[in-house]
Amino acid sequence: MIEIDGSAGEGGGQVLRSALALSLCTRQPVKLRGIRARRPRPGLMRQHLACVNAAMQVSGAKAWGAELGSCELVFEPGPVRPGDYSFSVGTAGSCCLVFQTVLPALMVASGPSRLLLGGGTHNPMAPPFHFVQRCFAPLLARLGVGIDLQLRRLGFHPAGGGVFAAEVAPPAAQLQPFDLDSRGPLLDTYVECFAPGLPARVVQRELDAIGAGLGLLADQLRAPAARSNEGPGNALLVTVLHEHVGEVVTAFGEKGVTSEAVAEVAISGVRAYMDSAGALGPHLADQWMLPLALAVSRTGTPASFTCTDLTLHATTNMGVIEAFLPVAFDAVQHGPASWQVSVSHRLLPGT
Ligand code: AMP
Repeated sequence: MIEIDGSAGEGGGQVLRSALALSLCTRQPVKLRGIRARRPRPGLMRQHLACVNAAMQVSGAKAWGAELGSCELVFEPGPVRPGDYSFSVGTAGSCCLVFQTVLPALMVASGPSRLLLGGGTHNPMAPPFHFVQRCFAPLLARLGVGIDLQLRRLGFHPAGGGVFAAEVAPPAAQLQPFDLDSRGPLLDTYVECFAPGLPARVVQRELDAIGAGLGLLADQLRAPAARSNEGPGNALLVTVLHEHVGEVVTAFGEKGVTSEAVAEVAISGVRAYMDSAGALGPHLADQWMLPLALAVSRTGTPASFTCTDLTLHATTNMGVIEAFLPVAFDAVQHGPASWQVSVSHRLLPGT
């Protein structure tokens, strides 16, 4: 049984989700202690429990300690069963994170899967749906995974109610690891202000402020119409698409925070990304490590990527991944906002 200390490094929910994902992929049981020990309210919250339950469902796993507030979990996976699944967080917690928990195992399963995910689609401190669709999924497609994501309804804190559908098909042969060292030419930049249930002037002020701050034209500033039963909520998204990789920078509106202040958060995120030569933004870098390492471990082919920052989420994830897979990470800093991360196959001790 692999033992993971949930208080190590970042000490948040990602340690749990990566451990569950890798336990499913490798069929190795895992014991976690100190779950989310570095968060203000440690232990399993509703959205983390939704991840554990989803991981149990796709593999007929057994789990001990899968309760609200629990700081310890033993998870014994069974064989992963592709198929049709519906997972709901039950609160406004992020359903994108539930998706990322089961996705690695389903993308190397014996057949395709169709998922319906419910909860929050745009949550602070989680990958928003459009980030998963425009940044993360295209990299999986380059590994050879068939992946299609469709947003049905936006979901924000506290109302939740978001839904998206996902189709995942494993590659016909093996995952194909690849190097991602440069972004390629800039193809498109655009802003979307999602603000269902909020006055139109909020949208206009956010778009005006971000358009001025980033020097964008009117057709790069968009206000998608709300669907029924959406909101209330506000997410300001800047999508920057290069030929080889995308970045979505997100800022969230909150009561008491001016539209201009929301725009400023997004502007500084975009400037930080554009000032660096790293291919992947800070969040994509930590999320890309697991699928890439899976591909490297299955093929023995090394791979690398560059990124704008090596966050604590990233270094923590490296440790969790190395506990499960026969891979070794190496990170070299090339400048103040430029890192190169390499993943290579390594023999496990005793093999
Ligand atoms: P944790 O804090 O341990 O629950 O992990 C949060 C996860 O959400 C990490 O993989 C972060 O990279 C990711 N994340 C947080 N904020 C964003 C964002 N704005 N865009 C994309 N991913 C994010």
